[in-house]
Amino acid sequence: MEDYFQKIINFDQNLLVLSLLAIFFTLEQLINSKINFKQSAFHLVHNLLLQISYTVVNFGFAFIILTCFKWITDYHIGLFNQIPITYTFKVLVGLLCIDFTYYWSHRLYHISSLFWRFHRVHHSDIQMAADTSFRFHPFDALLDGASSITAAAIFGLDANIILFFFAIYLPILFAQHSKFVFPDWTDKILGKIIMSPNLHKVHHHQKQEYTDSNYGNIFVFWDKLFETYKILPVNEIKYGLEEFDDPKKQNAWYLIKSPFSNIKRIK
Ligand SMILES: [Zn+2]
Ligand SMILES: [Zn+2]
Repeated sequence: MEDYFQKIINFDQNLLVLSLLAIFFTLEQLINSKINFKQSAFHLVHNLLLQISYTVVNFGFAFIILTCFKWITDYHIGLFNQIPITYTFKVLVGLLCIDFTYYWSHRLYHISSLFWRFHRVHHSDIQMAADTSFRFHPFDALLDGASSITAAAIFGLDANIILFFFAIYLPILFAQHSKFVFPDWTDKILGKIIMSPNLHKVHHHQKQEYTDSNYGNIFVFWDKLFETYKILPVNEIKYGLEEFDDPKKQNAWYLIKSPFSNIKRIK
């Protein structure tokens, strides 16, 4: 088990992300006969620009994040550092614990008007495509980094377990945002355990009662447990946020500046 774990965390995650983008983006162009290449290229370029700025901020704070992880390990901070359990158990339960923490931080991004200003950039997309997985405000990197450190500090997890979480989550993230409408059985079978692509698409519906639902990243349990689980047929979903519907508000520069403008949420 530890061998598989090492192989997975040793795999370059930048390469994994680029491979997933290349696979999903190519399949979307090939399978969708009504594709508008100019529109797809615009969408890709602007979401890539957002991802580049997100990555730059992430690198800028990498030292702080790594120092926090070192403290957590060196000073045996967190629940699993206090009880005698095997590393394999820690990795497996750690996945659930990280997802649980991200569920609550994601709810916080929606509840807090300050955090929503940054997180709404992800929700502003008027279409779902592989590169929507890249559409995050650069300062979201700070919120995401703080969520990872919080999970690690509460449960006593090391950086490798967080890396393992992302190795599992990234393919799910790209599937969740892809143009493809997955068959119903994916919800009936996979949707009992994971946040299936159709379920995550409900989270991108313009109507706030649906935007504020299905917060889970990998697992669906938390939404069911805390009553934020909602289902809706994909063909009834209108993506984006009404206040960002204007095509002029869909470019990277506008989106990067948008948290600093008072944009009223249309419910
Ligand atoms: Zn959200
Ligand atoms: Zn999303």
